[in-house]
Amino acid sequence: METTTPAPFTVIPNRRPASDEERWLAMEDPVFGKVFTDHMARATWRDGEGWTQRRIVPLAPLPMHPGAAVLHYAQQAFEGLKAYRHEDDSIHLFRPERNAARLAASARRLALPELPAEDFLASLEELVTIDQQWVPGTPGASLYLRPLLIATEPSLLVQPSDEVDYLVTASPVGAYIATGDQGASIWVSKGYHRANAGGTGEAKTAGNYAASMLPQLEAKAHGCQQVLFLDAKEDRYVEELGGMNLMAVRADGTVLTPSLSGTILPGVTRDSILTLLKDSGRTVEERDIELAEILEGIEAGEIVELFACGTAAVVTAIGRLVSDDFDVTVGDGSPGPVGAEMVGALTDIQYGRAEDTHGWLHRV
Ligand code: PMP
Repeated sequence: METTTPAPFTVIPNRRPASDEERWLAMEDPVFGKVFTDHMARATWRDGEGWTQRRIVPLAPLPMHPGAAVLHYAQQAFEGLKAYRHEDDSIHLFRPERNAARLAASARRLALPELPAEDFLASLEELVTIDQQWVPGTPGASLYLRPLLIATEPSLLVQPSDEVDYLVTASPVGAYIATGDQGASIWVSKGYHRANAGGTGEAKTAGNYAASMLPQLEAKAHGCQQVLFLDAKEDRYVEELGGMNLMAVRADGTVLTPSLSGTILPGVTRDSILTLLKDSGRTVEERDIELAEILEGIEAGEIVELFACGTAAVVTAIGRLVSDDFDVTVGDGSPGPVGAEMVGALTDIQYGRAEDTHGWLHRV
C-alpha cells in the first residue's frame, strides 16, 4: 500500500448536467450499466510521483493514446458496489472497505499501483454526493459504482505501465427482476475454464470477463442464462459463475460454498451471506465441492437449493444445471427459501430497514 497522504478530491462541476426531466426519464427503467450520471471521479498515477490530480469532473469520453497499454494487454482492474437510498433520504455504501481492499489485491496481481483505501472511499463519497439526485429512491433500485484502474502509458512493451488512471463512474440501476417462478438455468462449462491456479481468477480484471463471453454464448445456445465454471485442473470441482459466487443448501439446512482457493473472486455478497447464515444459526461449509456431489445430491434430494450471489442481483435462484451429459432440476425448479431469506436479510440492511449489527453501512 502506498503511503501518500490522501488529499481531497477537487470538484469541477458539470456545467451542463442532465435536466430534471432528462434525469427522471433516464432513471425510469434503466438498463443495467447503460445510464451514467453527470460526473466521474478521477486520479492519476505516475511512476515516481504517486497519486495526484484527485478530482471529480464532468462525465466525458477519455482521450487516450491508441498505444495505451490497457488497450493491448488489459492491464486493468475494477470494482462494483452500490449506494442505497434510505427512507430518510440518507445515502449509504455497503462495505466499501471490502471493495477498496479487493481493488488493491487485484492491482497487486496486475502489477498496477494500489490506490490507498482513503482515496477510494473519498472518491466514492464525493461522486455520490455531487450526483446524489441520481441515487434512486424506488424499491430495490440503487446507484451502481464502477471504480476502475487502467494502464495509460503509450507503450507496446509488455511491462507494467508507468502511467495509470483511476476512474469511477456511477449508473442508476433498477430493481433486479428475477426469472419469475422458475430459477435460472445454468450451463456447466466443461470445455472452457475461467481461471487457473496462479492465474487471475481471484482478481477482478477485464481478461477474466473477456474469456467468459464465448462460454456465455454457449450457455445461451443451450437455453441457459449463465455459466457455472469448473476447476481448470480436473474439471471436477464447482467454482463460480461468470459474475457471481455459488451456494448450495443441503436438506439439513447446511449451506455449502466453494472455498476461496485462489481461483474464484472473493465476493462481498458471498461473505455477507455467510455471516448472515451463521447469525441465523446455520452451519456453513467452505470447502472444495465436487460437481458430482452437487448432481448426486440433487438427484437424491440431499441438495435442496442452489443459488448464486453478487452485488448486481443479490441472489439468483438456480433451478436447473445443464451440460452435454446431464440436465438436472433442483427440487421443482422454483426459487428456494434460503436464497429468498438472504435477499430479504441483506437488502433490509442495505436499505436501512433492519439494524446494521455488523457495521456494514458507510454513510455518504
Ligand atoms: N464472482 C465474479 C466473477 C464476479 O464478477 C462477482 C461480481 N463482482 C462476484 C463473484 C460477486 O462479487 P460481489 O458479491 O462482491 O459483487
